[in-house]
Amino acid sequence: MTTQAVIIGGSHAGVQLCASLRQNGWTGQILMISDEPGLPYHRPPLSKGYLSGQAARTDLLIRSSDFYEKQRIDRSFAQVKEIDRQSHRIILADGREVVYDKLALCLGARPRPLVVPGADLAGVHYLRTTSDIEAIKDELAGVVHVVIVGAGYIGLELAASLRALGIAVTVLETADRVLQRVTAPQVSEFYARVHREEGVQIRTGIIITALEGSVEKNRVRGVRCADGELIEAGLVIVGIGVQPNVELAQAAGLVVDNGILIDAHGCTSDPDIVAAGDCANHFSSLYGRRIRLESVPNAIEHAKVAAATLCGKPGQISALPWFWSDQFDLKLQIAGLNAGHDKVVVRGNYQSGRSFSCFYFNNDRLIAADCVNRAQEFLLSKRLIAEKVLIDSEMLADERFSMESLLTTGQS
Ligand SMILES: Cc1cc2nc3c(=O)[nH]c(=O)nc-3n(C[C@H](O)[C@H](O)[C@H](O)COP(=O)(O)OP(=O)(O)OC[C@H]3O[C@@H](n4cnc5c(N)ncnc54)[C@H](O)[C@@H]3O)c2cc1C
Repeated sequence: MTTQAVIIGGSHAGVQLCASLRQNGWTGQILMISDEPGLPYHRPPLSKGYLSGQAARTDLLIRSSDFYEKQRIDRSFAQVKEIDRQSHRIILADGREVVYDKLALCLGARPRPLVVPGADLAGVHYLRTTSDIEAIKDELAGVVHVVIVGAGYIGLELAASLRALGIAVTVLETADRVLQRVTAPQVSEFYARVHREEGVQIRTGIIITALEGSVEKNRVRGVRCADGELIEAGLVIVGIGVQPNVELAQAAGLVVDNGILIDAHGCTSDPDIVAAGDCANHFSSLYGRRIRLESVPNAIEHAKVAAATLCGKPGQISALPWFWSDQFDLKLQIAGLNAGHDKVVVRGNYQSGRSFSCFYFNNDRLIAADCVNRAQEFLLSKRLIAEKVLIDSEMLADERFSMESLLTTGQS
């Protein structure tokens, strides 16, 4: 009798889980079920090269169709409605039932909705999937001005890609600076400046009270602000964060708290069920707390560890979190998490030019770094953070000081 691994969710975590199961010697059946049609694809280019026209649809595929055939991975386009842990069965929306021996939840996240009157008008979009981006692309023809709600990474990437298409863009942000939730004021100032230099209107401290539409077409025509101003928009794209897809796990009685809780080996509170990616929340031994991350490297790390666990070779989720964002000619690479920092040091000039690094410290230890067009400093930062090197932060601010020397002289 062969054992069956069922993976719910066919994206970055789900595909990596399938690949890693085979790499770890899983000989049983593998079934990946996803409620998105077509082959799994990379999401990051949707707001970047795919929107600006630099990447084609075929460039998006995570793996070619050959991979699934050669690795004997069955794929099913369906939505899972329920998990019956008692009988090891999952129930699909069309009523079919699938039996599993081991189950992987790679359910991802969905956009947080903007809750104001008019948010359901035609011409109001979110961005998570290829069908979202195709709908945006279809409607862009003839639109002269797009309003983006939210100045997080996705909002700013969208703004940069739309500028590359020659479209006028206004970004509206409730906080008093862009990227407020994730970066230091210096990094926010840098991104606001570059976006303005590139022709993006950045408006912070804006409270949106409604989206207003034209009566005859029921289509958005502007964004009403708390001070009464109406900002005209041919199209509105909302990027105000995501919420993890946890309802399936919660209904099945798994422990959920800002994501499906997993242990260091990727296991949920049920030993036959692992979870990975945006939907999962793990304990970081490096930061000493639970974290739920929304990034491709995290989805891949979770999936690799979870697959090894299902094959009886439990590893540890231990990689340093890292992220990236591409906007205009800026490659931002982020090492570590900056929450809890007590000091910020900048290396390079963020007030002019397009290259600098921002380092975040806690008790003289580097905990995170935002590196703009500085790949080498990003790589060195990853090592300095992981190795918990003690650093005189002011030295880092001096560009003549070699960061590399810290790796040989720093004390652990
Ligand atoms: C526009 C955009 C740009 C991004 N840019 C970056 C970037 O530059 N760098 C970076 O690291 N990350 C980026 N991200 C985030 C990154 O894409 C996510 O972290 C990553 O997709 C997480 O992968 P995942 O497999 O955990 O979840 P997801 O990619 O969300 O996939 C989950 C899948 O499960 C399916 N599913 C959910 N519930 C069910 C169910 N009940 N039945 C069947 N199927 C189900 C979903 O439809 C989906 O296909 C970006 C995301 C977006 C949207």
